Amino acid sequence: MALWRERTGPADHGCIIIFLIAPSEMTSGTAFDNYALTALRAHPGQWHCLPCWAREAGLNAPEDTGRLRMLAGRLRFSREHELTRAGFCGRCGTMIKDDVLVREGG
Ligand SMILES: [Zn+2]
Repeated sequence: MALWRERTGPADHGCIIIFLIAPSEMTSGTAFDNYALTALRAHPGQWHCLPCWAREAGLNAPEDTGRLRMLAGRLRFSREHELTRAGFCGRCGTMIKDDVLVREGG
């Protein structure tokens, strides 16, 4: 009985299912982006460091900070927003060096 089962076992060994779980509508990216950019829009011309941006947008999960960072990288090429790597945060006054500061351009 045991041997028979071992012989038939390999028949399904190649069955690997890869699936993605969508945790929320944020998965599309667009909703997340819009949400994050709305927070910047509330204070046009003000530099936001990542923690301030996240707090302003109400995005407190650690992975959200990573997403904001990626979004900031894309904003570099947008006309409406500015990105810098060093300066003073307009919200908390922290001196930022080698990190992200973003603002909606005035
Ligand atoms: Zn700040």
